Amino acid sequence: MILNTIFNLIFPVNCIICGKNGENLCLTCLASCPIAERETSKWVFPVFDYRHPAIKKSIWFLKYKGKKRLANIFAEILYGKILEELSDLILMENFYQAVLIPIPLAPKRKRERGFNQAELICQKLIKLDKDSHTFELMNNILIKLKDTKHQAKIENRSERLKNIIGSFSLKNTNKIIGRNIILIDDVTTTGATLAEAHKILKQAGAKKIIAFTVAH
Ligand SMILES: [Zn+2]
Repeated sequence: MILNTIFNLIFPVNCIICGKNGENLCLTCLASCPIAERETSKWVFPVFDYRHPAIKKSIWFLKYKGKKRLANIFAEILYGKILEELSDLILMENFYQAVLIPIPLAPKRKRERGFNQAELICQKLIKLDKDSHTFELMNNILIKLKDTKHQAKIENRSERLKNIIGSFSLKNTNKIIGRNIILIDDVTTTGATLAEAHKILKQAGAKKIIAFTVAH
């Protein structure tokens, strides 16, 4: 506690929206973000509406301004959402012992950024889940091959699909045969990336695949 206080005096952490000292995104600003309401595939569960400026800005700060603590905040919210959805799925569809898979970045982009934000979120999810073992992390299964153009920069939906098809590859597929999968990503726009990951994991023998994202 004292250490935290001293640390905060030397390296103050402020809310990127309102400036309040304490966290990169304070609870008040977080609570003001609207939840995602636009339709997605029924196996995709986004939390927030990406069109809201505070959400757009915080995802931007996580990815491009190195505010990695935001990944922890998002993970805590996602964890609640995952447990909520799983409580039904475990009952109805035996969705046990899930494998957590972050949507990967192409190696070049990961090198440039220094991290994969989806992986940071997954690492925090594993910490939050350490006593329950709801899922295990496998970040060596789904591989991004080509450095696709940013999906958000492509206007046309069919162009977005073309851009993403064939961009993933799988390793260690024996580990996911018959397993339930939870995909994690920061943002889903058209859902093309998640759909492509879903397709190749299913082809490789995965059981049920669902996805959670911070925003849509
Ligand atoms: Zn704030």
